[in-house]
Amino acid sequence: MTNLTQKQLDSHWMAYTGNRQFKQDPRIITKASGAYYTDDKGRKIFDGLSGLWTCGLGHNVAEINEAVAEQIKTLDYSPAFQFGHEKSFQLSEKITEFLPTELNRVFFTGSGSESVDTALKVARAYWRKKGMGTKTKFIGRAKGYHGAGISGFSVGGIPANRTLYGQGLDSYHLPHTQVPGTEFTNGMAKQGAERADDLLNLITMHDASNIAAVIVEPMSGSAGVIVPPQGYLERLREICDQHNILLIFDEVITGFGRMGGDCGAIEFGVTPDVMTMAKQITNGAIPLGAVAFKQEIYDTFMEHGGPEYMLELPHGYTYSAHPVACAAGLASLEKIRSENLIARVKEMSGYFGDAVHSLRSSSTLITDIRNYGFAAGITLAAPDGEPAKRPFQVAMDMWEKGFYVRFGGDTIQLAPPFITESEEIDRLIDALSDSFHKLA
Ligand code: PMP
Repeated sequence: MTNLTQKQLDSHWMAYTGNRQFKQDPRIITKASGAYYTDDKGRKIFDGLSGLWTCGLGHNVAEINEAVAEQIKTLDYSPAFQFGHEKSFQLSEKITEFLPTELNRVFFTGSGSESVDTALKVARAYWRKKGMGTKTKFIGRAKGYHGAGISGFSVGGIPANRTLYGQGLDSYHLPHTQVPGTEFTNGMAKQGAERADDLLNLITMHDASNIAAVIVEPMSGSAGVIVPPQGYLERLREICDQHNILLIFDEVITGFGRMGGDCGAIEFGVTPDVMTMAKQITNGAIPLGAVAFKQEIYDTFMEHGGPEYMLELPHGYTYSAHPVACAAGLASLEKIRSENLIARVKEMSGYFGDAVHSLRSSSTLITDIRNYGFAAGITLAAPDGEPAKRPFQVAMDMWEKGFYVRFGGDTIQLAPPFITESEEIDRLIDALSDSFHKLA
């Protein structure tokens, strides 16, 4: 049992946690190193989701630890507004090395949610600067996740995150791309690109003169790994271009290697106008988010910025470009490059994908398996009205056996660290197979 006192347990309202259930049997993690956590009972637990899609390099990374320690001693904080420090410029350049060349202006935030908020605000302001201030609505996608802010849940399409909080931003949603008949596809499905054409219906309904931007995850992560069908993102790009609508890729999960490419845009060969990022930039060690813009967007703000003492974009956060976070980011991205880890993910993604799909035979309750790079989602048939029940049972059983996997909705999510060995994939899959068998 935990060493925490009841008073301590009763003081904390935990994020995205079943607090009532958790407090009866708290799962407390005390340490992490490489691909493993240690819990308060001294058990070693394989990190099957790289933290929250954050820690592709594994945990306790010496280079990041050293960079953080050094930075805290040298410059622990500098005002984010009207001052700079060298690391934020160095990290901006470094980040652009992982993006399509057109995305060359980086704005820093403290999280993925703030990155999404920034992207949406800039999209609206951009059209105003161009004299098209009626372009204020946003188009998201069913099942999309874009963070916990009011803007994020508005464009997001996960019902539980939308229904509780009432009125959000003026947003409309494309259908998701889990198309019947494409279940158990390994990688990208051949059918489903036509679902992008629903954007044309939304444009007919609301008129492009009222729409600021379309925001999608190139591959939906939190919804349970929904891989774009072949040609889908290209089609979205084409329609946005034809109708003067900005295309935003939310790459908070897909950026920096998870897909076996530098980012989703490069991996899928479609360049958005704006890209949001977070998580893997610092390997999760220190909170940091970023948004990259095309030069033309930046230039529009500079051209219409008014007198030079004025702010071209009155927007930012106390922790924008935090020096310690930037130091962690530089160390993380340098290590991803120097150890060629993205190529490693690409190389091993076939092995991982085949292993995940081998689970199909472990239970008739499995209704779909999807995967790309080092990410996979396994969907389970839902007992009446309780889609999360079985995934929850599987995740708990896995935890008991020493594996951390995440459940969300009717799906189990997997995203092992980039450093995972094939034997570790085998053990993860064997343990899952056993948990699925137990369900029946
Ligand atoms: N966008 C996407 C695609 C995400 O997956 C997440 C987090 N899971 C967010 C935004 C929000 O990021 P954060 O939790 O850092 O605010």
